[in-house]
Amino acid sequence: MATSEGRRAIVIGGSVGGLFAANLLLRRGWDVHVFERATEGLESRGTGIAHHPETEAIMAAAGVRDEHAPGVRVEGRCAVDARGEVAARHHYPQYVTAWGRVFNPLRQAFPAERYHGGKEFAGLSQDAEGVTAHFADGTAMRAALLVGADGFRSAVRAIVAPEVVPLYAGYVGWRGLVEEAEFSAGFAPIFGQFTFGFPDHGEVIGYPIPGLRDSVAPGERRYNFLWYYPVDAGAALTDLLTDATGRVHAWSIPPALIRPEHVAALQADAAARIPAPYAEAPRRARQFLVQPIYDLESPSMGFGRVALLGDAAFVARPHIGTGVLKAAEDALALAEALAAGPDIPDALQAYSAARIPPSRATVAMSRFLGAFIERRLPRPEADPSLGLTLPRLLELSGRPLPRNAH
Ligand SMILES: Cc1cc2nc3c(=O)[nH]c(=O)nc-3n(C[C@H](O)[C@H](O)[C@H](O)COP(=O)(O)OP(=O)(O)OC[C@H]3O[C@@H](n4cnc5c(N)ncnc54)[C@H](O)[C@@H]3O)c2cc1C
Repeated sequence: MATSEGRRAIVIGGSVGGLFAANLLLRRGWDVHVFERATEGLESRGTGIAHHPETEAIMAAAGVRDEHAPGVRVEGRCAVDARGEVAARHHYPQYVTAWGRVFNPLRQAFPAERYHGGKEFAGLSQDAEGVTAHFADGTAMRAALLVGADGFRSAVRAIVAPEVVPLYAGYVGWRGLVEEAEFSAGFAPIFGQFTFGFPDHGEVIGYPIPGLRDSVAPGERRYNFLWYYPVDAGAALTDLLTDATGRVHAWSIPPALIRPEHVAALQADAAARIPAPYAEAPRRARQFLVQPIYDLESPSMGFGRVALLGDAAFVARPHIGTGVLKAAEDALALAEALAAGPDIPDALQAYSAARIPPSRATVAMSRFLGAFIERRLPRPEADPSLGLTLPRLLELSGRPLPRNAH
């Protein structure tokens, strides 16, 4: 193999996981190329995420120099009951932020000429000397390493571990954003809080995030809500994933194609089941996104010269709030394993061994936090002896597991 191929890495998927890996490898001397199926517009599609200092540290290692505040600071979380009264509190100062606050700086830190948008990965072949990626447009590239960072429906994983498929958890996450300036004065005391509510079914979460141009100035921020909402597998889920032309989308539906009647039904349900001041967020939201919740665990993250990373390898439900951090930690572990020795398959085995235990623990915790929505455990306030109490739920949601938890 030519020398350049000996240090060439192909990254499939140009979202946060792919960009963490690409930036980290580039800065360690790799000749990295990212291939992303979407042509443009990823930067404007995300909603809110919990911010963790660990993510910031890996962003710095990936070459991101970012002077902005990491997000909007909240002092803790509170749970409200059916009347809107505070039922539990947990003191936990942290920043909450927008997905774009991670994606955009990572994208800017990576050389544009190495980021190939509109390129859909279609297949791979590997041998002792290297790996070749094939694209839907008929082109191909050969390299020493291929990183599958192509999300929970990974086409890379479908080749190296076809038996691994996402398992639907029985509920979806409805997400929405509202501009701060659009709320009534009555929403002001709620706006700055990280709030959890439990309508007859599901769980509703809300918190502030930065607004346009990452502004955290009062009046210019946004409010992010997330409603975990049971939707039976089968006809009900299929209907939700069907667009106005009758096309059924497998696994998830692009936000712009969600049928207005589903949004109207969600808003009507909010008016009926969520305490009035809190229902203002779903009522005023303009951008909606629906995310079916899946569990996914891969048996390995290294297959010869092919690594799986981020949601392509393990999907933890969003309750634990560490999807971005998990992808960042995968990328750092991958870069470190590759730096430890020249043999790529050996390095990928070491990477896999390092990342599988924390990934499994994260998935398990996220399933526990969602078990009451699936009705596998009672609602948090219903029978504290059986599962999750409200204070425990507030403590465990939206934060990484301690390092020694697995
Ligand atoms: C636009 C967007 C917005 C998001 N917003 C949020 C959010 O607000 N909150 C949150 O918690 N999580 C959000 N996520 C999910 C979050 O990024 C992941 O859960 C997690 O961070 C792991 O990221 P990932 O890079 O492994 O996977 P993903 O973020 O899912 O990225 C996978 C990437 O691979 C690309 N891809 C897929 N198949 C192919 C193919 N065959 N060829 C080439 N490219 C392919 C996809 O277009 C996508 O860009 C968002 C993801 C995207 C893509």
